Amino acid sequence: MNQQTLTRNYTFEGRGLHTGKYAHLTLMPAPVDYGIRFVRTDLEVEIPALASKVTRTDRSTTISEGDASVVTVEHLMSALTGLGVDNARIEIDNEEVPILDGSAERYVRAIAPDGLQEQDGERVYIEFTEEFEVRDDQTGSWVRVTPSDKMSFGVKVDFNSRVLGVQTAHWTENADYVGQVAPCRTFVFFHELEFLAARGLVKGGDVDNAIVIVEHPASKEQIDNMCKFFGQPRLAVTPKGYLSNIRLHFPNECGRHKLLDLIGDMRLMGGFPKAVITAYKPGHTINSAASRAALSKIK
Ligand SMILES: [Zn+2]
Repeated sequence: MNQQTLTRNYTFEGRGLHTGKYAHLTLMPAPVDYGIRFVRTDLEVEIPALASKVTRTDRSTTISEGDASVVTVEHLMSALTGLGVDNARIEIDNEEVPILDGSAERYVRAIAPDGLQEQDGERVYIEFTEEFEVRDDQTGSWVRVTPSDKMSFGVKVDFNSRVLGVQTAHWTENADYVGQVAPCRTFVFFHELEFLAARGLVKGGDVDNAIVIVEHPASKEQIDNMCKFFGQPRLAVTPKGYLSNIRLHFPNECGRHKLLDLIGDMRLMGGFPKAVITAYKPGHTINSAASRAALSKIK
C-alpha cells in the first residue's frame, strides 16, 4: 500500500499531565518518507519520533534533541499509528503534549472523519528476520517481536491488583482502533499519586483525564484526602474500586490503555512493523527498550 498523510492541519491545546505546562499542538501533512517528527516551535528544534531519541521513560515517554524535549509523545504516536498515518509534522510550542482526556480519542475523532491523503510512494514496512524479545527480570515485564505478514499488538497486564485483576487486550491492523482502543484513558493508583506529586510529576493531572484506582477499602480520611488532592468536594469510591469521577468505557479499559501505549511506544521504531508484538506487564521503559532493539534489528 501507499504512504499516507493528513489531509489538513489539526490543532489541540492543553496542559501536559506530568509538567503541567500548557502547549499548543498542530498536526500537519508531511511529504513522502518524512516519517513523524516533532518540532519545538519555541526553540526551533526538530526531533524525529524515534527510539534513538528517547531520553526518559518514567510514567511517559520523552524524546529529545540536545536540550529540547517533548514529553508524553505516546498517545499521539499511538493515534497516528492506529489511523495508518505514515508522515506527519507535529508542531508544539512547549515541553509536553497536552494530555487532553488521557486517551487518544480527541485525535482520532478529529482526523478519522476526514480520512487520509494517499501519497505517491509505497509504504516501506519494517521487517525482521527473526523473533526477539526484551525482558526486565526485576519487574518480570517483557516485550516480544515475532515476524508476521500483519501488524498486531497484544498485552497482558497483572498489577497484582484487587481492582484490575489480570487484563488482556489485542489490536490487529485494520481492526477498529478508533472505537476500541483510542478512547481508553490513562490510569493511576491512588496510593501512587502522593508519591508522584512529591516528585513533581502529574502536575497536570485532574479527575477528568485519568482513571483513579483505589486498591484498598477507603476510609473517610482517605476520601477526604482524595477530595483535597483533586480540589473536588464530592468524590467517592465505586464498589469495584474506582474513583467515582468517571465511568469506564470498557471493563478492561486499563488493559486497553496499556495496549494503546504499547502501539505508540513501538511506533518509535520509525514505521509500521510486519510483526506480532506481544507484551507482558508493559510500561514505557520496557516498550522503549523493545523499540530501540527493533531499530537495531531491522532487516
Ligand atoms: Zn498512556
